[in-house]
Amino acid sequence: MGAKTRGTEKATIGPMTSRPPYRTISLLDQRSLAPPMHPLGTGGSGYIQDLGTSQPRGSLTDTLGRPLRDLRISVTDRCNFRCSYCMPKEVFDKDYAYLPHSALLSFEEITRIARQCVAHGVQKIRLTGGEPLLRKNLELLIAQLATLRTTEGAPLDITLTTNGSLLARKAQALKDAGLQRVTVSLDGLDDAVFKKMNDVDFPVADVLAGIEAAQAVGLGPIKVNMVVKRGTNDHEIVPMARHFQGTGVVLRFIEYMDVGATNGWRMDEVLPSARVIERLHAELPVVALEASAPGETAQRWGYANAQGQYDPQLGEVGVISSVTQAFCAECNRARLSTEGQLYLCLFASQGHDLRGVVRGSGGDAELADAIAHIWQGRSDRYSLLRASLPPEAQGSGARRVEMSYIGG
Ligand code: SAM
Ligand code: SF4
Ligand code: SF4
Repeated sequence: MGAKTRGTEKATIGPMTSRPPYRTISLLDQRSLAPPMHPLGTGGSGYIQDLGTSQPRGSLTDTLGRPLRDLRISVTDRCNFRCSYCMPKEVFDKDYAYLPHSALLSFEEITRIARQCVAHGVQKIRLTGGEPLLRKNLELLIAQLATLRTTEGAPLDITLTTNGSLLARKAQALKDAGLQRVTVSLDGLDDAVFKKMNDVDFPVADVLAGIEAAQAVGLGPIKVNMVVKRGTNDHEIVPMARHFQGTGVVLRFIEYMDVGATNGWRMDEVLPSARVIERLHAELPVVALEASAPGETAQRWGYANAQGQYDPQLGEVGVISSVTQAFCAECNRARLSTEGQLYLCLFASQGHDLRGVVRGSGGDAELADAIAHIWQGRSDRYSLLRASLPPEAQGSGARRVEMSYIGG
């Protein structure tokens, strides 16, 4: 193996004799790229008067007119998988410095922040990570979040994304606590392929058992996310589709993204969604469906019957084309990191410190104002700009936060 050093140096992964280009993995700690921005500046509560905002009214918009609707909350930066596209083993090894417990937001702190985001218009909360089911007593957080109501008085849509490894064991408790749905990540049906993707020898059967348990307790409709890496698992597209067709599970194919700075991303490993649909259509005909909600990340395709029409009994698949078809124009998501940094884009290099606000003396009015100030200043649209960015700002060589830290 190549040498590995911490700090700002880079590690070459794989034998030096392998043919170029070598995979270069940056070992920068992306969490400390820049000091977190304090949303209140130095002004403390005086800032509230400066900003002149009043009670949240559920209609916050950013500089591009996008509302805040979807909050993704990362509850841990740890994971029991080492997916090569997310937490490559060479970087996330036994010496990796995960966040200490004291840095994590408590469930009460998370709920306080979520409550103010909901007052500003959030309708959907997704718990993620790292692997969210590794966070102890997660049901207690779900139960707290389930008490929140949207500005129209409706319950929130509360979902969770998991690798499925602990789902069979936890599905009932999650449902009882108030979780509505789950999304399970599964990158293939063939054990050898899946183990290559998760890199910890985890078998497919245990994830399928988790999906079945979730279905049995009513955590549906279940979505299954498959990250497609050309040359690694793309031959699993059709078998995965066949497996889930007609089961009520919605399979979604995700383009392999240049998130984070450690996965050695290369454009030639991305299989564009258009090619995914072509391959699928050749075996299992599909027709395009309308989006079911504004800001939806997946384009929907329904399985067709012999007459070429959508057959709801057969169900649907989705494609998430983050690389080839940017959906920034409708992006209504904010991401709260495990330690309370609010990120406005998956590709951001800097977050906004809400933990400091929550642990300060300002109270909920200050917290609401901080969130308003942050969202109103937002202009992020990385995927739209990707192609026009200089090379150092594209791909995984760029300096940005890891997906396992802010959640997918
Ligand atoms: N551990 C959980 C899981 O895997 O479902 C939740 C966190 S994971 C970061 C959330 C989602 O991000 C997963 O569906 C995962 O496949 C996806 N993801 C991670 N890295 C990705 C990448 N480089 N490109 C596309 N999707 C990625
Ligand atoms: Fe873990 Fe999910 Fe990242 Fe895979 S994608 S390493 S399961 S956090
Ligand atoms: Fe949203 Fe950023 Fe993704 Fe665009 S690149 S869709 S702004 S998270």
